[in-house]
Amino acid sequence: MNKVFHFDAPRDKYHCDAAVIWCFDNRFDLGFRKFLLKRAGVANSDPIKVAGGAKCLASPELETEREFVLQQIRKSIHLHGTRRVILMLHSDCGAYGGLAAGFSGDAAAERVHHHEELRRAAENLARAIPGIEIGAYFVDFEGVWQAELAAV
Ligand SMILES: [Zn+2]
Repeated sequence: MNKVFHFDAPRDKYHCDAAVIWCFDNRFDLGFRKFLLKRAGVANSDPIKVAGGAKCLASPELETEREFVLQQIRKSIHLHGTRRVILMLHSDCGAYGGLAAGFSGDAAAERVHHHEELRRAAENLARAIPGIEIGAYFVDFEGVWQAELAAV
């Protein structure tokens, strides 16, 4: 192989502040990363980016998707001492059919639906990995909304 680029990456292992289950839709990447760093106290994260984000835990198309994400979280716990998982869903997500086709353009209806999805994802995660700390957020084109989760 030919070396084509040089940089110095940190060699020390890090403690992960949170594993983040989010959609790979790039429109929300910068805004949500800012939120994680500035408001959620997440400097070192293990990002687990999959289409639909937390949908894989709440209502996966295939059960193997849920198991895959759970295994990624377990590996983050094992490798980086992760004790917190952040779940993310976003507006106009293709995995839910988008805002226009999936929710007839009704942003409020989409938000309510995704709130329930985040609760479902959190319940399933808490059942699979007891004791894990969970935060859940819906991201739209103007900001971040925190889901109210039942105490587990
Ligand atoms: Zn998406």
